[in-house]
Amino acid sequence: MATELLTCEQVGKSYWDGNHNLEVLQGVNLALNEGQLLAIVGSSGSGKSTLLHCMGGLDKPSTGQILFRGNDLAKWSPRMLADWRNQHLGFVYQFHHLLPEFNALENIAMPLLISGQSASQARQRATQLLQRVGLADRGQHRPAELSGGERQRVAIARALANNPALVLADEPTGNLDDETARQVMALMLELNREFGTAFVIVTHDQKIARALPKQVQLHHGKIVPQTAGAAK
Ligand code: ADP
Ligand code: MG
Repeated sequence: MATELLTCEQVGKSYWDGNHNLEVLQGVNLALNEGQLLAIVGSSGSGKSTLLHCMGGLDKPSTGQILFRGNDLAKWSPRMLADWRNQHLGFVYQFHHLLPEFNALENIAMPLLISGQSASQARQRATQLLQRVGLADRGQHRPAELSGGERQRVAIARALANNPALVLADEPTGNLDDETARQVMALMLELNREFGTAFVIVTHDQKIARALPKQVQLHHGKIVPQTAGAAK
């Protein structure tokens, strides 16, 4: 039996712009199982980043609930949320967000050092991950000395460093050419299967999303019901 890892129940988010209530998310229901990989596809402004931020506890829904293994994120203190993120979540962004003054190996080791691992443990794990993402010979390179695709591989390795239950990726291939984007997506699929890490991958690119096992469409802040076989 598949068990639910993250659940969105009637999640809404609105902003007051001074005159209007801008409803960015409206009644979003989603259930992600342990180890599942889900793509959320929608055009720019459809609410993808807002939804992902809510899922990662970086933003709060205005209505509805988000549950992690049955626990309502809204009931946690900021400290509990921060600990939860460090322990159980990894993040990948469109722009890699790597630390420019550190090399690839040090960037991957950083979350491990922060969570209290020794320098040698962190180095060992970072080396393994770097190898796994195909960059064994790039450990000493700083982000500026890596290609866009290589930077995203490092960012993915860093997101996986703490062996999280869930990786949230916001347009991880948005800055890459088609072929590199395809390779980076393929890598995330492989890592999902190998490590059993669940992934939520947000993209505006229908073509990229179709290569993934499960997709939902977000349209003006609402999940669009999927008709079998119909790719919109
Ligand atoms: P996407 O990631 O799909 O492009 P976003 O979630 O970033 O969409 O944004 C959805 C909508 O919400 C946009 O119209 C955006 O302008 C609006 N929005 C996002 N964050 C804020 C905010 N902090 N205040 C007001 N409006 C916001
Ligand atoms: Mg976005």
